[in-house]
Amino acid sequence: MINIILFGPPGSGKGTQAQFIVESKELTHISTGDIFRKNIHQKTTLGNLASSYMNEGKLVPDQVTIDLLESEIDSHSLSNGFIFDGFPRTIAQAHAFELFLKKKNMHLSLVISLEVSEDELIQRLLKRGLDSGRRDDSNQDIIRNRIQVYNNQTSVLKNHYQNSLKQSFFSIDGERSIDLIARDILNVISEC
Ligand code: AMP
Repeated sequence: MINIILFGPPGSGKGTQAQFIVESKELTHISTGDIFRKNIHQKTTLGNLASSYMNEGKLVPDQVTIDLLESEIDSHSLSNGFIFDGFPRTIAQAHAFELFLKKKNMHLSLVISLEVSEDELIQRLLKRGLDSGRRDDSNQDIIRNRIQVYNNQTSVLKNHYQNSLKQSFFSIDGERSIDLIARDILNVISEC
C-alpha cells in the first residue's frame, strides 16, 4: 500500500497532478476541498457549515475535517493506497492523521511538496476563478486570505514532514509545464 500527501499552497497544481498519479498508480484520490464542494452542491449540513468558512478563504474547523477524512479512508478499505490532496493543513490535523494511520496499520510513504511563487499562485487562482466559477478563486481578497492562511497555518507542515520523513519528503518545482512536473512526481513515486 502506498500513501502519498501531495502538499502545496492553493493553486500549486495539487489537484491536476493528483489526477496523473491516480491514473498511473490506481490510488484513491482524497481531496478534502472537493468533498466539501460536493457537499455544498448537495446542500448537506456539512456543506452548509463548510461554505461559511470557504467563502471567506478560512479553514474548515479541524475536527470536522479530520472526521471527514477518517470516514473517507474507512469507506475505501480495499484501496491500493491513497493520495491526499489538501489534507493535512494544520499541525492538529497532521497529528490526528498520524494517530489514525497508526491505528489502521497504515503509514505515510511520501510527502511531495509543490513549490510555486506567491505571484504565480495569485495569477493562477484568478484565472481558475474565471474558468471554474469557484467563488473562493474569483476574488483577490479571498485569494490573498487563503495564501495567508497557508503561510500562517499550513506551511509549517513542510518542516514537520521534512524532519519526520527525511528521505521520503520531496520538494518539486511546480512552476514548470504540467508534463514535466508529472514526470518528476511519477519518478519519485516509482523509486519509493
Ligand atoms: P482546496 O480545494 O484544497 O483549495 O480547498 C478549498 C477550501 O476548502 C479551503 O480554502 C478550505 O476552506 C477548505 N478545506 C479544504 N481542505 C481543508 C482542510 N484540510 N482543512 C480545513 N479546511 C479545508
